[in-house]
Amino acid sequence: MELIYKSTRNSNETATASMAILKGLANEGGLFVPDSIPSLDVSLEELSKMDYREVAYSIMKLMLTDFTEEELKYCINSAYDKKFDTDEIAPLVKKNGAYYLELFHGATIAFKDMALSILPYLLTTSAKKNNVKNEIVILTATSGDTGKAALAGFADVPGTKIIVFYPKNGVSPIQEKQMVTQKGDNTFVVGITGNFDDAQTGVKKMFSDVELNKYLADNGYQFSSANSINIGRLVPQMVYYAYAYSRLVASGEIKVGDKINVVVPTGNFGNILAAYYVREMGIPINKFICASNENKVLFDFFTTGSYDRNRQFILTTSPSMDILISSNLERLIYRIAGNDATKNKELMSELNSNGKYTITDEMKKNLVDFYGNYASEAETSATIKKVYESDNYIMDTHTAVAAAVYDKYVADTGDKTPTVIASTASPYKFTRSVMNSIDANYDKQTDFELVDELNRLSNVKVPQAIEDIRTAPVRHNTVCDKEDMLKEVKNFLGI
Ligand SMILES: *Cc1c(COP(=O)(O)O)cnc(C)c1O
Repeated sequence: MELIYKSTRNSNETATASMAILKGLANEGGLFVPDSIPSLDVSLEELSKMDYREVAYSIMKLMLTDFTEEELKYCINSAYDKKFDTDEIAPLVKKNGAYYLELFHGATIAFKDMALSILPYLLTTSAKKNNVKNEIVILTATSGDTGKAALAGFADVPGTKIIVFYPKNGVSPIQEKQMVTQKGDNTFVVGITGNFDDAQTGVKKMFSDVELNKYLADNGYQFSSANSINIGRLVPQMVYYAYAYSRLVASGEIKVGDKINVVVPTGNFGNILAAYYVREMGIPINKFICASNENKVLFDFFTTGSYDRNRQFILTTSPSMDILISSNLERLIYRIAGNDATKNKELMSELNSNGKYTITDEMKKNLVDFYGNYASEAETSATIKKVYESDNYIMDTHTAVAAAVYDKYVADTGDKTPTVIASTASPYKFTRSVMNSIDANYDKQTDFELVDELNRLSNVKVPQAIEDIRTAPVRHNTVCDKEDMLKEVKNFLGI
């Protein structure tokens, strides 16, 4: 049966999976959501005998029903290959009373690779299926990790160009170096004088600018999105929660049917939403533990039912979670409103005009399986140090936010359910913050000296992604005002 996607803001706007992937965003700022989520057609037992690619196929075929088996397997096999430094793709590591699902073994050492290594294949396959002749322009705002992962995924992919905007002063030095050294004639990287929300707002504006889109089409281009609003990113992210469950069964840590909790360090709400979607397929998940850093807009939302972005934006050591407008939350709002596009649209327009909205008590009841909390900067760095000392395991700052929140959850609830913590980045990506957490005296060394020191402490090989940027020349040095993003896009496209 064909799965249809609908806009969260207009139930009359529908699309097949491939059309939704191509478009990225629905009209009027809506997001595409599946009309319903099919149940798994393999047993959990069968799943536990599969490798990553087989699990990926079992999940994705149910969500991307207009792809043929051959197309989908081509996409999966092209994505999850030697670009990952382990055959397991997403290893599950037991440390400090939890299972860390390491999602950072891809080309750019952050969990974004899990989706962005397959998105270019899904997108170009979708273009072919829909007879698209225009060149596809990927337009992306990044808080640091999406940008590099998207650049790596799309570099030199025929029929595509990619433009990435990042907050000039809002990403880690290694994140910035990774982006500005990107190769590929079809890539363009621009720093903006503003924060991530400014970049994201500017990008969304260009997407929904009807005249601009027509002008692009006249010149043989069309926009698409590599941000986590694209269902082509959400669907591949469902896979690793099913895979984690299957590994726990395979290793005898749990029995088939036992429930698990998941803890997700959250920014734009894509990763945790994927877990929520995969539970509807039949993966037994008990609680969704949403971990925020000091930008705790989601913690406040889960505790009060009010979403309020009117607050100071805080730059933290977990920059990929420095977000006040959590885009994918809209998909959950739509769902807890009973798939009600009218209600959702009303709340989103309040968010747009007043920066806040409050859900009804009825909607709030549908959030019982979510638990939100946050970790301060001090708690985050103390967690890195603590787990290093107890388990000789060094985690990155984002993962540490999740680990700190998990400790609070256990203290609050006493819940002993086996728990998977999404480990979203390699510590090598945030070396300075990680090393400073272990010892403040590391502050005096250069980034690459710290890389070598981290290698010495952790005994974990320095990833290729880091080795690559030690000497790579800067290829992108454009910086613009947040008002001038459109000008830069036109400039790059020569239109
Ligand atoms: C993007 C990112 C997050 C946040 O994920 P969302 O899907 O936006 O909630 C967390 N950690 C890291 C390292 C990231 O790159």
